[in-house]
Amino acid sequence: MVSFYPGPSRVYDEIPQWMKGAHRKGILSMNHRSEAFMTLSKKTIELLKEKLDIPEPYSVFFLSSATECWEVIAQSLVKNKSVHLFNGAFGEKWFEYTHRLKSGATAIRFDPAKEMESTHPELRDAEVICITQNETSNGTQVSNKIIGAIRQNYPEQLIAVDATSSMAGVYLNFSQADIWFASVQKCFGLPAGLALMVCSPAALSSVTDLGEKNHYNSLTFMTTMMEKWQTPFTPNVAGIYLLMRVLKKVKPIAKVHTKISERSKAWWKFFEGSRHLTLYASEPYVRSDTVITIKADAARIESLKKKAVKKGLLLGEGYGDLKKSTFRIANFPALKNKEIQKLRTFLKAFR
Ligand SMILES: *Cc1c(COP(=O)(O)O)cnc(C)c1O
Repeated sequence: MVSFYPGPSRVYDEIPQWMKGAHRKGILSMNHRSEAFMTLSKKTIELLKEKLDIPEPYSVFFLSSATECWEVIAQSLVKNKSVHLFNGAFGEKWFEYTHRLKSGATAIRFDPAKEMESTHPELRDAEVICITQNETSNGTQVSNKIIGAIRQNYPEQLIAVDATSSMAGVYLNFSQADIWFASVQKCFGLPAGLALMVCSPAALSSVTDLGEKNHYNSLTFMTTMMEKWQTPFTPNVAGIYLLMRVLKKVKPIAKVHTKISERSKAWWKFFEGSRHLTLYASEPYVRSDTVITIKADAARIESLKKKAVKKGLLLGEGYGDLKKSTFRIANFPALKNKEIQKLRTFLKAFR
């Protein structure tokens, strides 16, 4: 079965071999305070920065999920007020999780058919501006250009970006925001259970100013431990090792970006020529490159998904409000050309 689910999705073919190697080399029982772990952690972070083009002064932390990142940001970086700009279910969840912890959180919803605005009166009062760069539920994305405009318009604010289903798939201009995070079961092509949080020096100085220490995963503790390439808790060492192996294998992000955007354009063209299957995002400038979301009538989607499974193709369900009216196709780097071709051939009968 090839999984086109937009997370967890297809993992790289080398995973079993790397996992066996990790077992043989004792990595699966490695002590997380050992020299060997510190070497692994340092190397993984260096490779991540190199392959994804992350500015040198930024710090990287290991967490368990993007959901955990939502809470850690609320705990350790927001005193009272975060402002959340979103157009779909993941952005909304982030807002809700934050609101439970910090009652000052506010939401600005925008139309998924339109580009996000880069000015809003309310953003001036925000401590942290929260943006979902790639909205996995509806297959829309916010461009680097818009994030850059927000940076320019709000130089005093911290900007946090959920890039869970785009990091390692498309080029992100990390210098334009302060906190970026993603979990590895999407564009990294890895099994779930590990997430990455990338922080600017400005974000870390805010962590120091707030000095929040109420949680095992407070960024205050994580920052101190990361001075020795460690984490306050026992991390997913196997996941970190697999991430290191994937990062060694993948091409620099500029190359990956070219491949992914060629593939997304081919998908768009395929559906633009279709009668019954239409792209959820009609304007190309709001469309996600990594999550293709297709609208159709519920009965057609139902039958198409069932038949796809029989062919060994797993499609992504619609998400939230869009559960019945859409389906989703991951356009993640670990998917192979011939697998995409197979899905396209299959879908021709339903166009
Ligand atoms: C998948 C996803 C999440 C949740 O990730 P977990 O690792 O399951 O916590 C959050 N935000 C976005 C945009 C996602 O695509």
